Amino acid sequence: MSETRRKKPRGKARLIEGKCIACGDRCQASCPFDAVEMSDGEPVFILTKCNGCGKCVKICPSEAIELIYTPDEQKILDEYSRKNEPAEIESKADSAWKHVWVFVEQTEGEAHPVSWELLGVGRQLADDLGVELAAFILGDDVGHLAHEAFGYGADRVYLIDDPILSRYRTRAYLEAGLLLIRKYKPEIVLMGATGLGRDLAGALATELRTGLTADCTGLSISLADRLLEQTRPAFGGNIMATILSETARPQMASVRPHVMPKPAFNGERRGPVIQETLSISEDDIPTRIVEIIREKSDSTVNLAGAHVIVSGGRGMKGPEHFWMIRELAELLGGVVGCSRSVVDAGWLPYAHQVGQTGKTVKPKLYIACGISGAIQHLVGMQNSDYIIAINKDKNAPIFDVAHLGIVGDVFDVLPAIIEKTRASLNAPAELEQTAVGMEP
Ligand SMILES: Cc1cc2nc3c(=O)[nH]c(=O)nc-3n(C[C@H](O)[C@H](O)[C@H](O)COP(=O)(O)OP(=O)(O)OC[C@H]3O[C@@H](n4cnc5c(N)ncnc54)[C@H](O)[C@@H]3O)c2cc1C
Repeated sequence: MSETRRKKPRGKARLIEGKCIACGDRCQASCPFDAVEMSDGEPVFILTKCNGCGKCVKICPSEAIELIYTPDEQKILDEYSRKNEPAEIESKADSAWKHVWVFVEQTEGEAHPVSWELLGVGRQLADDLGVELAAFILGDDVGHLAHEAFGYGADRVYLIDDPILSRYRTRAYLEAGLLLIRKYKPEIVLMGATGLGRDLAGALATELRTGLTADCTGLSISLADRLLEQTRPAFGGNIMATILSETARPQMASVRPHVMPKPAFNGERRGPVIQETLSISEDDIPTRIVEIIREKSDSTVNLAGAHVIVSGGRGMKGPEHFWMIRELAELLGGVVGCSRSVVDAGWLPYAHQVGQTGKTVKPKLYIACGISGAIQHLVGMQNSDYIIAINKDKNAPIFDVAHLGIVGDVFDVLPAIIEKTRASLNAPAELEQTAVGMEP
């Protein structure tokens, strides 16, 4: 690091005239320095308290706040942008931690697809940081997964292959993960927000005394300070929060399946495999697996793997009208989804719920019928390839994410779509227009 480089100035917050929409004191609530006072719904910044952290700038929904700099500060900023150098914000983290790691979750030697989705976003993060992307694989007889990891973008693989890891047990996997992370010190660790991933990520973060942002819907690098920006819904989904782990390492985040796109596979890619040995025995593990009983799903619906999902919301008015949703789904070779209101009302079982507390889906086609588009629903389906929304309220938030919006009554629009679809497929009218209740 050059000795002559000056610290990047942070500036002070200022309101841009005419842009504030008096959203309800979000900027004031976000300020950690009590530097915002409200006057007639608009913020007044106390410059002696503001330290230019930029939290109010980020949270403002109308982009009405900016950071301003003195002429001297502006000069330094210009130098930075001329050199195209990352800003020199004092790094509070130990710089020995380097590279981006992705946990390859597997069961009986078969990788969970979320691992490859994470390698896709991990590749982007590693490239932005100018570091390597590594996969770490834990299990018994799982060496073959290294080839897949390289194909999906890993530059190197860390592997612990040990019979003690044949079935997932927290203690055994924790010890294996800790061994690798403590020895090789990755700056970022990404894991799938699956049942296994949630358990292991929490245990690892606790032992490593670091932060963990669960269920991220967005991951990026703040190039100014090399921090991982971890975005996820917060406060019951009412806002999107971007969380930083400034000091502790590694920065840990989990992401649900189907949130990130799976990268293309390149079978030609190769790389080094670094194998470590685990020195624990059965006596060190407090749990024994006596028997494995496969869980029976409460429904055969496979939302996560479906290419087409037709979803109904409270606008369907009752379970007796879901025959339309079911019929359209069947005609299109898809499955039935729904909002949480529908599950709460007992119209469909939980297995059909899409959203923050339901399934995250990414079909080729998602048709939302009578669904308002609450943020908790959107986070579960907004990455679908093509979204059609039918709602009689033209201001419904579902239209913000829809590629095609139909403002209309589902009871007019759906039968018309069904008829057209059936005609174009030459399909007979098979389903009776009767109540289906809990049998979608
Ligand atoms: C912690 C938390 C987690 C949550 N998790 C989830 C989750 O995983 N998934 C989820 O979906 N929700 C979740 N929710 C609930 C969420 O906030 C909403 O309440 C829910 O998504 C609303 O469902 P809805 O759109 O079906 O109903 P509503 O919000 O009541 O919307 C009904 C829509 O139907 C339209 N409509 C009415 N009649 C017609 C008609 N005849 N034709 C066309 N349109 C019509 C209306 O204009 C309206 O937009 C969660 C909430 C919390 C607090």
